[in-house]
Amino acid sequence: MTFAQTATETIAEGHGTTTALRKPYITPYAEETVELPLTFERVGGVDWLAYRDALPDEWMFGVLWARCGTARNGTILWPLVHTLRQRRCMLKGLCRVCGESATDPGTGRLWWVMRSAPPVDDPAPWQTVGPPTCREHVTEALTACPHLRRGKPFVCTVGDYTPTGVLANLYGCGDGGRMVETRHQVMLDLDETHLMPRALATQLIVSLRDIRPEIV
Ligand SMILES: [Zn+2]
Repeated sequence: MTFAQTATETIAEGHGTTTALRKPYITPYAEETVELPLTFERVGGVDWLAYRDALPDEWMFGVLWARCGTARNGTILWPLVHTLRQRRCMLKGLCRVCGESATDPGTGRLWWVMRSAPPVDDPAPWQTVGPPTCREHVTEALTACPHLRRGKPFVCTVGDYTPTGVLANLYGCGDGGRMVETRHQVMLDLDETHLMPRALATQLIVSLRDIRPEIV
């Protein structure tokens, strides 16, 4: 089992392209692929997915996260998303293209590019798995990202957001105790605690509030 098998494709609104000059911050490299020594550990009467050599910080939001290297060099894997850098962008409000802050210094609001606009007059938080894009890189993202071009891209700033879910692969135990992936890239709300013991998170989902359309 490797990182590459757990990463996801364009559902992430990823910046995948074979033509852009820049290597986006959230795109992984083949050399960052690592083995995932997955197992189940009995905790409180429940079998929890774990690494045989797990570290405490490999759990977050009550779920185990896909392990990956952080070298950022080598052969880039354009269609995929680097789990830890995607999560870091979400947690810290960083640009998925350059990895720097996506907060507008003038307004304190975060710049975001989404594949489509949220429904008009719908005040409900808008969920996304695509990290912010700083103002400087909005145009580059719109030009270079085929996934965005296929939709009707929506440029906006966001006043607030909170983590609300994960994209994850679910695992079970097969013949002879073999680890088996039973579902690939499912969206789990953070309160779906009954599924978390079997989940390996690959991307963080956040809910956006106070969304304003913008022009760059
Ligand atoms: Zn940027």
